[in-house]
Amino acid sequence: MPTIFSHAIFASSVGSAFRLEHDRARFWILTAICAMLPDADVISFAFGVSYGSMFGHRGITHSIIFAVTIGILVSVLFYPGREIPKWKLALYFGLVTATHPFLDMFTNGGRGVALLAPFSGERFFFPWRPIEVSPIGLDFFSDRGFGVIASEIIWIWVPSAIIFVVASLVRRRS
Ligand SMILES: [Zn+2]
Repeated sequence: MPTIFSHAIFASSVGSAFRLEHDRARFWILTAICAMLPDADVISFAFGVSYGSMFGHRGITHSIIFAVTIGILVSVLFYPGREIPKWKLALYFGLVTATHPFLDMFTNGGRGVALLAPFSGERFFFPWRPIEVSPIGLDFFSDRGFGVIASEIIWIWVPSAIIFVVASLVRRRS
């Protein structure tokens, strides 16, 4: 995985491009949580589930079905009102959750992502994988940790900043 912070940063830049409720803290908190949530599967290691299993790391919680489910759940549970159409919220939070496995597919280590779980256990990567993988339980103050952060700054933080600036400019114009 890229570190969970980078997942949250990228998702927030995506959030800045959507006109939903930028003035509400819950919007940004839910955006960050949805982006980090798939990596809750690392607890599977504590239960002895193997990495390659559908219930292992980068398994079912990194699938399209999981992202769609989370999108729907968030829209129903956290937005009881009707100010924003449910389908828009479900689409947005599903998309934000899905940014996680797609970013993972750019990393150069670990196993691929089970995008099609539970229908297929196949693990996917993009052919181009510039992001230095962040090992589980990484010590950020080691040389290796520094390399991971540097690669995430280049490949995630900078693109996120660009999306954020462009989205702000577009919003200001209209
Ligand atoms: Zn992940």
